Amino acid sequence: MTLNPTSFQRRGFILVISSPSGAGKTTIAQQILERDFNVQRSISITDRPARPNERDGIDYFFVTPEKFSTLLEEGAFLEHTENHGIRYGTPKAAVEETLKVGKDLIFVIDVKGGRFLRESMREDVVSVFILPPSVQEQKHRLELRGGDSAKMITTRLTTARSEFPCAPEYDYIVINDDLDQATSKVEAIIRAERQRSIRFTNLPHLITLLEDELKDIL
Ligand code: ADP
Ligand code: 5GP
Repeated sequence: MTLNPTSFQRRGFILVISSPSGAGKTTIAQQILERDFNVQRSISITDRPARPNERDGIDYFFVTPEKFSTLLEEGAFLEHTENHGIRYGTPKAAVEETLKVGKDLIFVIDVKGGRFLRESMREDVVSVFILPPSVQEQKHRLELRGGDSAKMITTRLTTARSEFPCAPEYDYIVINDDLDQATSKVEAIIRAERQRSIRFTNLPHLITLLEDELKDIL
């Protein structure tokens, strides 16, 4: 018998990426998705309007507040949150199926969602907190991104006050100064997490095969 990487059946994991708004988590997630076809993004549902460059079904599923409430009542969300009067939720459908077939999922969600998932799906969740190099740079990025009023940018920065202290709860910390370097660091985390023994669902069977071979040889 010869083992190779295809001998393993692997359960996928959920990569939770959180950060204060404007630190660059969405951009990093996009870069990973472009380069790694084994990673899929969970597309959240929100009741806020789309920004000028955002597309329905790609960046978010944009719904009315009424529709969001209906989905909530129907139990359609794995987790959901409210930020600045806007609601966001992760659709439940397809998450388990995706993990079962060995695909990894990226969730770009806030610290409340991150905490909930770490507690409720501990073994399936790997969490990364992205820090901006400075708050000045974070503010600058929010201004350049467009789509938010000056008041909304101040609100987002104010929220960061309660988000920064959550960083130590996360498994990994990455500073997003140079975008390519930050993305490479998150990719290294993904590579390492794919090799964790708990993800290999047929590991006991493969070990038995090696033990049998050992018996034959000895
Ligand atoms: P978040 O999802 O954390 O709110 P975004 O990914 O939307 O942040 O990034 C905010 C803005 O900053 C975007 O316009 C993005 O293009 C830009 N940006 C992201 N990372 C960097 C970086 N390393 N250097 C400069 N600009 C960046
Ligand atoms: P934005 O309006 O900038 O797209 O997102 C605001 C915040 O909501 C970000 O921190 C973003 O990660 C978070 N968010 C987006 N979708 C979800 C979701 O489905 N669940 C949770 N918990 N947070 C989300």
